[in-house]
Amino acid sequence: MADKTIFTRIIDGEIPGNFVYQDEHCIAIRDIHPAAPVHVLVIPRKPIPSIAHLTTEDHAIAGHLLMVVKKVAEQEGVAESGYRVVINVGDEGGQTVPHLHIHVMGGRQLHGHGTA
Ligand code: 5GP
Repeated sequence: MADKTIFTRIIDGEIPGNFVYQDEHCIAIRDIHPAAPVHVLVIPRKPIPSIAHLTTEDHAIAGHLLMVVKKVAEQEGVAESGYRVVINVGDEGGQTVPHLHIHVMGGRQLHGHGTA
């Protein structure tokens, strides 16, 4: 399908992803251009374009994604040292892939607010 996002193609196994976690609702993969030693993307299997597109039926998955962020941080060894969680929304938010995803970054001292 022409309108599949790159993340749906990874979920569907059409292109490879470096998986660190998956369950029936979401996957977690290493970012292909990591901004930190740990840079994982937590992505719902449902192709919700962004936070702006969440509906009341997404209530459970939205909460689940944060619980998976916590799990991934523990698994990656940054839960104690600290890490950053970023969700970009829309053009001015810097979102480049229109499929909701949560950046989990850590493993070095981070400054400012962004993904750098
Ligand atoms: P955004 O800018 O939309 O918040 O974040 C998209 C992220 O997806 C970027 O950090 C980018 O490096 C990552 N990305 C883009 N294409 C791929 C890909 O094919 N595989 C993986 N693992 N990450 C990707």
